[in-house]
Amino acid sequence: MRTVYVDNNATTKVAPEVLEAMMPYFSEYYGNPSSMHFFGGQVARKVNEARERAADLLGADPSEIVFTGCGTESDNAAILGTVDSYPEKRHFITTRVEHPAVGNVSTYLSRKGYHVTELVVDREGRLDLDELKESITGQTAIVSAMYANNETGVIFPIEKIAEIVKEKGIPFHTDAVQAVGKIPINLRKLPIDLLSLSGHKLHAPKGIGILYIRKGTKFSPFMIGGHQEKGRRGGTENVPYIIGLGKACELAQKNMEDENTRVKALRDYLEQKILDRIPNTLVNGDRVNRLPNTVSVSFEYVEGESILLLLSDLGICASSGSACTSGSLEPSHVLRAMGVPFTAAHGSIRFSLSVYSTKEEMDYIIEHLPPIIQRLRDISPFWKDYLKSQGKK
Ligand code: PLP
Repeated sequence: MRTVYVDNNATTKVAPEVLEAMMPYFSEYYGNPSSMHFFGGQVARKVNEARERAADLLGADPSEIVFTGCGTESDNAAILGTVDSYPEKRHFITTRVEHPAVGNVSTYLSRKGYHVTELVVDREGRLDLDELKESITGQTAIVSAMYANNETGVIFPIEKIAEIVKEKGIPFHTDAVQAVGKIPINLRKLPIDLLSLSGHKLHAPKGIGILYIRKGTKFSPFMIGGHQEKGRRGGTENVPYIIGLGKACELAQKNMEDENTRVKALRDYLEQKILDRIPNTLVNGDRVNRLPNTVSVSFEYVEGESILLLLSDLGICASSGSACTSGSLEPSHVLRAMGVPFTAAHGSIRFSLSVYSTKEEMDYIIEHLPPIIQRLRDISPFWKDYLKSQGKK
């Protein structure tokens, strides 16, 4: 059976060039970069080259790049490492649509007695910047707002947000896990203090991430251990994965134009064909300020999980906007925060493309999706009620 992989916001394929760059560091060059001998030194040099590649992609200085174990660790370290640096400040600001790597840190801080503000979004998934301005107080330790949403692809106006936060002299963190490699980011021009990214979202392996820490930012290490990463993250470096991530950053820079032209056009083509061919379908989120590879669509009166399973039977891998909590399928917190109606939120599907996606794959989805939705609507009591309400049956 063929595989059509359109779940790249969940994880991506390791690029062949990345895998090739990594291989010698498992078997041939296995030294510890902290060792004094040449065998460790040659590895340390390669780790620093990877650091330079990552810094190039972000418009950062290599000394501001800290390698971590994943995006979740980077998010946790940024927030907890900052609140730890300002123990007298007991207020945390974030948004209602963050990934759990930030959202559950917010819950954790609230349990610890912090005052937490979770900013609302509108129907398009956009933040109210006035609410942000009004929420900041002298007690605010850090503001964390994601760069781009993993479910809808909606891009927050990070430059404006960062300016508002920095004007008040407060540290600003952004979870850029979904943005890095898909849209240009230049930290020389953006007043961001801390930024998280994850290797497996940009064709490096799972289990490697980066925390960017702007020079001069107060930060207490989250992973306490040896002197690695200039004392900002203890633990012997995951050398092959760091080398792989360095290569992936280099490739992302090369592929950025393709991502924002060809991949974006493929996404738009898929989206338009779906809207043309399937009635009672809506696109979730701001369609202008959006990642080029992502579309979240809701098919009214059907269950997202049923759609996913039928797509999966045909080799199509997408993802749904629901989360299985205690046995019941709840629409995701993101769609709920946006106020997507109940009848639509349950039937939402996210397609996320990559530079490996092709037009032929989009056509395969377009061919098979309409009959799947029709089949599910034919057995949906909600659809029957809807048709009756429209005087159609
Ligand atoms: N933040 C966002 C926006 C994500 O989409 C993800 C992964 O899905 C993460 C953080 C967590 O990254 P990792 O899987 O590397 O821990």
